Amino acid sequence: MVDEEDLRDSIPSYAFIALARRGMEKISLDQCFLKDCDNQDPKLLQPFKKEEYEEELKSIKKIHIKCKKCNRIFILKLETLKYVAKSTKDKNEEALSMGLVHALDENGKNLGHIGYF
Ligand SMILES: [Zn+2]
Repeated sequence: MVDEEDLRDSIPSYAFIALARRGMEKISLDQCFLKDCDNQDPKLLQPFKKEEYEEELKSIKKIHIKCKKCNRIFILKLETLKYVAKSTKDKNEEALSMGLVHALDENGKNLGHIGYF
């Protein structure tokens, strides 16, 4: 059985959108990204499945979420890009990483780039 809380924990609470001149805007990922649905209530969003895989220089997580308001399913695709910052001076320097969030519909069709996490 899938642990819903565990799935919830693997979703970042917020994503950041870059605005042209005004820095970054923070948006909540606790919302339904399907067209014509305005659900922003986390209680009506039920994550039920997670896929995880690695690609060259990225690790990808897909969280399948059921929206109980519009009764449809969407997928949050979280891509973490791994840039390894190599330094000859400081061996403890950590690899930098950056994440991208996309929303997909039930069939894997891309609904658009949401932001960064
Ligand atoms: Zn919805």
